[in-house]
Amino acid sequence: MTRRFAVGAICAILFCGVLPGQQKAKNVILFIGDAGGESTLNAASINGYGAPQKLFLQREMNVGLSDTSAANSWVTDSAAGMTAIVTGHKVNNGVLSQAPDGTPYKTILEYAEEHGLSTGVVSNMAMADATPAACYSHVDSRKKFGEIFPQIWKPRFGDGVDLVLGGGKKRILEALKESNIDLTQAAPPAGWPVYESLEEVPDTAKKAILLVDGDDFKVDEAAAKAIRSLSRNPKGYFLMVEWDLHPGKVEKMLETAVALDRLIEQTATKLASRDTLVLFAADHSFDVRLRSGKRGAPLLLPANAKDFANGGKFDLAVGTSHTGEEVLVAAHGPGAQLVKGFMPNTRIFEIMLAAWGWKK
Ligand SMILES: [Zn+2]
Repeated sequence: MTRRFAVGAICAILFCGVLPGQQKAKNVILFIGDAGGESTLNAASINGYGAPQKLFLQREMNVGLSDTSAANSWVTDSAAGMTAIVTGHKVNNGVLSQAPDGTPYKTILEYAEEHGLSTGVVSNMAMADATPAACYSHVDSRKKFGEIFPQIWKPRFGDGVDLVLGGGKKRILEALKESNIDLTQAAPPAGWPVYESLEEVPDTAKKAILLVDGDDFKVDEAAAKAIRSLSRNPKGYFLMVEWDLHPGKVEKMLETAVALDRLIEQTATKLASRDTLVLFAADHSFDVRLRSGKRGAPLLLPANAKDFANGGKFDLAVGTSHTGEEVLVAAHGPGAQLVKGFMPNTRIFEIMLAAWGWKK
């Protein structure tokens, strides 16, 4: 890690003509592999490429290790984990971006809005669920979808999160209905057109809400579209992209991890401009353990597939819970040199602020 940091610093001096720490980021893109701990990335590389350390994340980025503990627990849920990353404050599990007395903690997305940048959140998960919600809402319980989602069109800073592209349509519409809110009546007059499919969302969209259901939401296409749209703001943008890596189906999860890694590579090398800080972090790890396996043999044997959830007996043992060990943080672009060594998850927030050159 130290060596890689040194190499990165030398490259920054040679090729960018600046000392590390001098170049500011115009844009920040934060990728979250939800539950994508190191053990998962290791297995994804072996499953996808037949060898360890073949992911872009493991080859081409500055890396550090982040503690993920919550304020009240060594093992975090996604709400406390993401709150720490986007606000710099540890909270109790279940809480989204606010203090124990209910005072909102200002999120990195809100800082970006305050500075006139464009902002977006993309996820295959419900857009009122913990990871995206921690970016734009403040609430004492992540379960309160009916309180979370309307905060999109009642922003505290700037004109609010511009692009909301992802899942959870049915759950969110039901929760809004219980709060007597009709999305298509409430959001468009406030400035957010509501779309039914990713294809409908124009590349020139200044604001958009897209909610879908099902497993086939294309996070990579949505992220690419969001980058095209947000890049139109000359002041820059903040984009959060979550791709869930909880191992419901192990094989799919490992393939998703590789797809997320490819998306990060595409973003760092092609999709985003060079003045973009591209960050990856997991909000927490998961009980995925490589316990055996031979070079040249497939990691996941079809005969084992149905038994993965039981864990223990196969090459890849998969439990049922989040775990508390440190997770990978990886960075590419201006400000990436700040990612090094062991750190608390709250430092990721500080790294993003510092990359823009902003003060708390
Ligand atoms: Zn999570």
